[in-house]
Amino acid sequence: MTVYAAPGTPGSKVTFRSRYEHYIGGEWVAPKLGQYFENVTPVTGKAFTEVGRGTAEDIEAALDAAHAAAPAWGRTSPAERALVLNRIADRIEENLEQIAVAETWDNGKPVRETLNADIPLAVDHFRYFAGAIRAQEGRLSQLDDDTTAYHFHEPLGVVGQIIPWNFPILMAVWKLAPALAAGNAVVLKPAEQTPASILVLFEIIGDLLPPGVVNIVNGFGLEAGKPLASNKRIRKIAFTGETTTGRLISQYASENLIPVTLELGGKSPNLFFEDVVAQDDAFYDKAQEGFTLFAFNQGEVCTCPSRALIQESIADRFLGDVVPRTQAIIQGNPLDTDTQVGAQASTDQLEKILSYIDIGKQEGAEVLTGGGRADIGGEFADGFYVQPTIFRGHNRQRIFQEEIFGPVVAVTTFSDYDDALSIANDTLYGLGAGVWSRNGNVAYRAGRDIQAGRVWVNNYHAYPAHAAFGGYKSSGIGRENHLMMLDHYQQTKNLLVSYSENKL
Ligand code: NAD
Repeated sequence: MTVYAAPGTPGSKVTFRSRYEHYIGGEWVAPKLGQYFENVTPVTGKAFTEVGRGTAEDIEAALDAAHAAAPAWGRTSPAERALVLNRIADRIEENLEQIAVAETWDNGKPVRETLNADIPLAVDHFRYFAGAIRAQEGRLSQLDDDTTAYHFHEPLGVVGQIIPWNFPILMAVWKLAPALAAGNAVVLKPAEQTPASILVLFEIIGDLLPPGVVNIVNGFGLEAGKPLASNKRIRKIAFTGETTTGRLISQYASENLIPVTLELGGKSPNLFFEDVVAQDDAFYDKAQEGFTLFAFNQGEVCTCPSRALIQESIADRFLGDVVPRTQAIIQGNPLDTDTQVGAQASTDQLEKILSYIDIGKQEGAEVLTGGGRADIGGEFADGFYVQPTIFRGHNRQRIFQEEIFGPVVAVTTFSDYDDALSIANDTLYGLGAGVWSRNGNVAYRAGRDIQAGRVWVNNYHAYPAHAAFGGYKSSGIGRENHLMMLDHYQQTKNLLVSYSENKL
């Protein structure tokens, strides 16, 4: 067990500056209107730095820098860009603890996750797209003996990216790695709740990129995000955030006829078929762990398995096992490597989750465990902690239909396969799902029948770089990760060449 020192105290791995500007053209640039906003750590509820409050003027400056850098960066060879991406990955790895502690302090998530998941996954995404761009080939069609159609991949140019607060660094890297591999220049806006860790990251890696290839403008959605997403000078916008915001982003983009990728909300079902309890073995243990993952990252995951569907015949046995298992989850100081559940990312999020817990109670759902704010005590008394909470109810209740984005799971039961599928698909969303069964046929069929972009079968919450991720229905447009992500950051040039001297 290690307890990392809090930033600003002796022995800490990270020291935040008292003030951060924007990162534009490879330099730290003060906001044009001179305004800053406080960045609060959810760990203690206290402000720890202030960050430039971006406006349209700052977005224009960032776009100037990106447009100046884009042509030369776009002409570098895939091998050159791959080298840069690999160097970035190495540099992040060398500074793993510093970046992990910064991310934990900014977001509230446990350091055991930032050390073992968020930051190593970010490293791997840079390495994956470094390899992917080197392996990418164009296509050629021989139209006749003298005529050939070549298909080249070209970068789009300057692209915009808007990031949420739940995985600040990983969500930024999901977008940056493919965009840079494909040869684009970027203007990125972090979420206003969690800008600092991305800025620490760029203090560490910024010099590895030519100035202007990545530019970061901090600030709020309407003040900085909208001027970016609605800008005529971007060739694409990539967004991760709420479904309601995604609709606005789509509207802005349609004005300029630019493509969008949207990674939005979810209300993911996690299905447990009766054979999971057939033996009290490692598989049953794994399935129970799969249930408790609703509390992973404090439930602030777009694919949070927030609806658990359990076959009626095993409901009492299964809940009898997973309720104490949930109660045993260690919640506490996020900087302690033993901690499994940390703090919610912001006070607004804390209030939203607590209000949904009240709604669940008012709707008549039964609280099986949790059901309120968690008291961590001491210096954490003002931090944003919520008890992992299990409700039992039915799928028409609001806690089953609306995204809570907290450590709250709503449990219901199903009678047979058809019942399970009809409950699972009875949602506006279609991002993630889980299926647990020892029967390969049932697991395969359910995996295919659930309307979601990612179905985990006998596992959950794995996010490898080489598996496509994205939503059905109101959960989004397009995919992230995997080779196919490059398609979202490139356009195809077709060169149709006649090699005939006389034939037209
Ligand atoms: P949000 O939509 O409030 O904010 C996301 C980002 O958009 C922030 O940077 C914000 O400043 C910006 N923004 C807000 N309004 C804007 C506007 N009008 N124009 C331009 N930019 C604007 O979402 P959030 O609360 O930060 O993130 C949580 C949401 O993200 C959840 O719904 C979650 O499910 C979703 N999410 C989805 C995925 C995925 O891959 N599908 C991953 C993580 C989070």
